[in-house]
Amino acid sequence: MSEKYDVVVIGSGPAGYVAAIRAAQLGLNTACVEKWVDSDGKQRLGGTCLNVGCIPSKALLDSSYKFHEATERLAVHGIKVGKASIDIPEMIARKEKIVGQLTGGIAGLFKANKVTSLQGTGKVLARHQVELTDAEGNSSVIETENIIIATGSVPIDIPPAPVDGELIVDSTGALEFTDVPKRLGVIGAGVIGLELGSVWNRCGSEVVLLEALDDFLPMMDVQIAKEAAKIFKKQGLDIRLGARVTHAEVKKGKVEVSYSNGDGEQKEVFDKLIVCVGRKPQTENVLAADSGVSIDERGFIYVNDHCETEAPHIYAIGDIVRGPMLAHKGSEEGVMVAERIAGKKAQINYDTIPNVIYTHPEIASVGQTEQELKEDGVAYKTGTFPFVASGRALAANESDGMVKMLADEETDRILGCHIIGPSAADLVQQIVIAMEFGASSED
Ligand code: FAD
Ligand code: AMP
Repeated sequence: MSEKYDVVVIGSGPAGYVAAIRAAQLGLNTACVEKWVDSDGKQRLGGTCLNVGCIPSKALLDSSYKFHEATERLAVHGIKVGKASIDIPEMIARKEKIVGQLTGGIAGLFKANKVTSLQGTGKVLARHQVELTDAEGNSSVIETENIIIATGSVPIDIPPAPVDGELIVDSTGALEFTDVPKRLGVIGAGVIGLELGSVWNRCGSEVVLLEALDDFLPMMDVQIAKEAAKIFKKQGLDIRLGARVTHAEVKKGKVEVSYSNGDGEQKEVFDKLIVCVGRKPQTENVLAADSGVSIDERGFIYVNDHCETEAPHIYAIGDIVRGPMLAHKGSEEGVMVAERIAGKKAQINYDTIPNVIYTHPEIASVGQTEQELKEDGVAYKTGTFPFVASGRALAANESDGMVKMLADEETDRILGCHIIGPSAADLVQQIVIAMEFGASSED
């Protein structure tokens, strides 16, 4: 008889690995199944976030910003560096090293916390059984008390622009360029499109972002999105709204792109094209027909506020379930589920999950936007402060942007905070804590 686990987690991204470690720390006999392997067939833990998402994109954002700073932003301080150049293979190798260090770190954490790491593809058979299939196609069945599904998400591809991995790439391919494309097209001016567009813009690409929607960053507070559009235009990002891509084709080593906008059919030629039109939950082959777990109308695994699926003892967390596709959101859910399995009373305040776009300046927000408050008929008040009036920001030559606070008109309780400006990601954390403690904007 093979070992029976208390918990089997499927997927080792920021949702899954955190859940597995927390469960093991609480004394539960835990295994984590991961199918991701590198080019040598070696298992890679950490999921999208560590391998091809948050971490590698932030590494390239930091490298490219340092180059941009050296070429464009040091002279004003009286610093002359001569002609700076950037070695792209070296920048990419640094990123790879960080990824390797972190994914290896998860393996170390699993060992230290006594999480059993299983290599292969996991499938939920029934409430107490997971099928594990290895790279050679051999299957076995693992018995477990509880199952946590954390299989994450994958890039959406659109028929008009099929990814070939060379000239037309998705976000993963855009982290691997070996030189700087002269003209770079990006389909989708969402979070990932803006971050990757910024990386290559700073390295010298002429970047054109084609966005189907008429509004820029519609999920952000309107005032902040307007400010962002102004700043990005100044940086040279050519953001075309209301531009729906209808066809993309590789011809003579270039990518020809057709898109329609208010003026009819348009054409553009790029050296490379990044398709960043969003991500979809990875449910393919994860559930047996009689697993008892259901999928909602948008393709996500259906869960309640405690991440319980409709099948007892089966939970789902992270990008595979509703809510923002953010690493820390999945990790929070992982902790909550592990603690609830261990009999603790954990829950999540979904109203205080911050999000950040790591452009320069950064854009960070938490809570409701002004347009959401209007829609909900909430009586609110606003306060804004431009960074140009901050002595600290001026001293740092970082005076673009503003902070906007939204508070309940009567009680003054903070309802939302939206920041575009220097260190926005760091600043928003204070507001998250304030909101967690029910602080007023006066506080
Ligand atoms: P994933 O990280 O996708 O992990 C799922 C894991 O499950 C994968 O390792 C996969 O191989 C494995 N798996 C899937 N199916 C099976 C199976 N059947 N059996 C075994 N294993 C399986 N978020 C932020 O919060 N901040 C950021 O700055 C940020 N930047 C991003 C930048 C980019 C370019 C991208 C693409 C994403 C970014 N994200 C960011 C989003 C973030 O990466 C995701 O929200 C996060 O990775 C989701 O975590 P997860 O654990 O739910 O899923
Ligand atoms: P996000 O959801 O933040 O990852 O952003 C993806 C963006 O891609 C969204 O704003 C979509 O409107 C946009 N998008 C999707 N399909 C197309 C298309 N065919 N042409 C241009 N933009 C698109």
